[in-house]
Amino acid sequence: MENTNQHPHKPNGNGAVEQYDAIIIGAGVSGLYQLYKLREMGLSVRVFEDAGGVGGTWYWNRYPGCRFDSESETYGYSWSEELLQEWDWKEHFSGQPENERYLNFVADKFNLRPHIQLNSYVSAAVYDENEHRWEVQVEGGQRARAQFLIGAVGVLSAKYTPPFEGIDSFEGESFHTSNWPKEKVDLTGKRVGVIGTGATAIQLIPIVAEEAGHLTVFQRTANYAAPCRNSEVNPETQAVWKANYPEIHKQCRASSAGFQHEFDPRSALEVSEEERLVLYEKLWALPGFTKWLGNFQDIMTNREANETFAEFVRNKIRERVNDPEVAELLAPKDHPFGAKRIPLETYYYEAYNRDNVKLVDVNPAPIEHVTPKGVKTQDAEYEFDVIIYATGFDAVSGPLTRMDIRGEGGKTFKDKWANGPRSYLGIQTAGFPNFFIAASTAFCNYTVCAEMIVEWIADCIGHVREKNLSSIAPTLQAEQEWVDHSNELASYTLLTDTKSWFMGRNIPGKAPALLLYANTVPEYRRRCQEAAASGYREFVVH
Ligand SMILES: Cc1cc2nc3c(=O)[nH]c(=O)nc-3n(C[C@H](O)[C@H](O)[C@H](O)COP(=O)(O)OP(=O)(O)OC[C@H]3O[C@@H](n4cnc5c(N)ncnc54)[C@H](O)[C@@H]3O)c2cc1C
Repeated sequence: MENTNQHPHKPNGNGAVEQYDAIIIGAGVSGLYQLYKLREMGLSVRVFEDAGGVGGTWYWNRYPGCRFDSESETYGYSWSEELLQEWDWKEHFSGQPENERYLNFVADKFNLRPHIQLNSYVSAAVYDENEHRWEVQVEGGQRARAQFLIGAVGVLSAKYTPPFEGIDSFEGESFHTSNWPKEKVDLTGKRVGVIGTGATAIQLIPIVAEEAGHLTVFQRTANYAAPCRNSEVNPETQAVWKANYPEIHKQCRASSAGFQHEFDPRSALEVSEEERLVLYEKLWALPGFTKWLGNFQDIMTNREANETFAEFVRNKIRERVNDPEVAELLAPKDHPFGAKRIPLETYYYEAYNRDNVKLVDVNPAPIEHVTPKGVKTQDAEYEFDVIIYATGFDAVSGPLTRMDIRGEGGKTFKDKWANGPRSYLGIQTAGFPNFFIAASTAFCNYTVCAEMIVEWIADCIGHVREKNLSSIAPTLQAEQEWVDHSNELASYTLLTDTKSWFMGRNIPGKAPALLLYANTVPEYRRRCQEAAASGYREFVVH
């Protein structure tokens, strides 16, 4: 396994510069819809996608157990009634293979493939101030130009592997969960090490535990995982969804986080302990993020309120794990519930009751290096046939700053975002005209917000073209106000003190900043709509 988080170089390109109205980077949920929208508006569009297929997250993350944490019927696109009626979700929390099939179905149904060039990593993009056009460089030498450049590069697409010394010396097989091979990885009877216990590892571990001869899990931070309670979708439910999609989507768009769950308006502290527990047990028995997003409203803002539920979850973990010492290691105590993304699990905690599974806490004895035979911590050596890196992503800014993007005056995007995201609405950055970020950074059921952002970008591009303008970018003042506003919102939450990818703290050297926008979905939409309805007053146009 390569000890690098940089992108490998691939040769291609014949020197000619192709010309388009718009270039989109990325063919995931966002990029596919952006392509559809712009093509419908009559633009010539080219999508460059690093992967060998469409689907983004659902192309790359093929690890066993990968599935939605969102309810399937709320994650699927809402913009085509025909698509909604034709597609049957098989599970309430659909798995990666089906999700990838879904996005391939969309690409075929809407004839998107002719516009998509796969196996094409965009390494650089430079803004030509005289021509008001972007020139992108695809790895290998191919170049293309367009007036509009849209980075639909995702928020969790830049995989991160800690730079463990000796990583290349390992003689067995190793995999990052986000670069899992298409072919089945046979773990039968093997000695497997999993590094990491985030949302991905929590989906993966119960399955690997059943297959492997022995599994060792290296844990740095315990997470509050909650039961997913997945099940198959029966024909009656499918029919109800199909008859009610407009209502389902309306409800999602009106809710705080884009789901069909809504917070209880009461404070956790205003009800008796008995009443609190009744609600907690009820939420616990329900599928999905209900435990998080259907909880008392102050769970995410008041530490004392949060602790009432955090302790409830710890007790659930203690009930499920036989060995009390292991249970304590698995019960998080260093951060509030919900300050890190809540993973949904299926028999995760029970995996630790198996004789072939060992949990290693790397806090007292960190991993020192990888050896030819396995992993060496400060106090022990572990031998493996397979090492699985479930070590996550350089989130949100990573996929953007890994490219060499240069705006006005040759300013690099990487420098601009060195201390955290600097944008207006999460969509555009001052000094980078006609460059749009089509990725949802709201706390949101992803597609619900991504659709809104894609539509906003399409409208903005429509405005530029209608008015015969050459370029659009937010003013520095609008950007600064948005950054201040986002930081203020972050300060009201319990998120900022926690070592999480939300804060960029999983990446050594990354400036800590809340990478997500901590507002409700309706409020975010209102602000985006206002920015457009004002005639793009907060933007510089040429
Ligand atoms: C394992 C996992 C499970 C998730 N589950 C959920 C869930 O249940 N609910 C939810 O709301 N969200 C979930 N997410 C978040 C998920 O990322 C989004 O739901 C959504 O798939 C993102 O879509 P996207 O198109 O914006 O980005 P992506 O799907 O990440 O697609 C971006 C694409 O851009 C490509 N790309 C990036 N940089 C370049 C470049 N320089 N050149 C060329 N191509 C490039 C990448 O290869 C990738 O294919 C999950 C994420 C992960 C990793």
